[in-house]
Amino acid sequence: MIDSRVREFRDEYRRVHIPRGYRGWLHLVFTFGVGGTAFACCLLQLEAIRPLEWLTIPITFLYANLAEYWGHRGPMHHLTRGLRLVYERHTRQHHRFFTDDAMPLDEWRDLRAVLFPPLLMTFFITAFALPAWLLLAAIATPNVAWLFVATSLGYFLNYEFLHLAYHLPEGHVISRLPLVGRLKRLHQTHHDQRVMASCNFNITYPVGDVLFGTLRK
Ligand SMILES: [Zn+2]
Ligand SMILES: [Zn+2]
Repeated sequence: MIDSRVREFRDEYRRVHIPRGYRGWLHLVFTFGVGGTAFACCLLQLEAIRPLEWLTIPITFLYANLAEYWGHRGPMHHLTRGLRLVYERHTRQHHRFFTDDAMPLDEWRDLRAVLFPPLLMTFFITAFALPAWLLLAAIATPNVAWLFVATSLGYFLNYEFLHLAYHLPEGHVISRLPLVGRLKRLHQTHHDQRVMASCNFNITYPVGDVLFGTLRK
């Protein structure tokens, strides 16, 4: 049974924050369709990668993991000047819509409370990927620039896939996959409102949590 406060918040969220014309499946297609196409386009630009250029992948992975960690530990859980929307969407909405006792979504429209909004996704891709590409192409090589953008996009898509898996209905085939099940338990602990601002800030792989001592099993 879902707690009555969660039930009430879900009803209010659906009334106030989900536009009438919103379609969950369309949001899903946009995220993975546009993101996946951009990812494939980056891969198509790669040419005769030299051994040292491959290092871009693990370095970008670590960078993305720490950005996920500090973004979540910082502005997503602490009201920060200029980033109020991020705090509102995460702490005030996502954490009230889903708690450790109420992890699964009820209907496809609830994807609005899980996935990045398309506008924010487009903004992040343009505002961060483009300058990074220009900088890396200038100071390193075009291959390094494309590998950086491709790895970042791949990381983002993996983040969206895993976070969605954690909030799918109980027993769903995706959330039953071995690694997904273990990672889900970490995220479920993070959804306990008493500890949400102190542990398990990585939503994908707990590298940052291990490094900074905030992993809680
Ligand atoms: Zn969540
Ligand atoms: Zn959180």
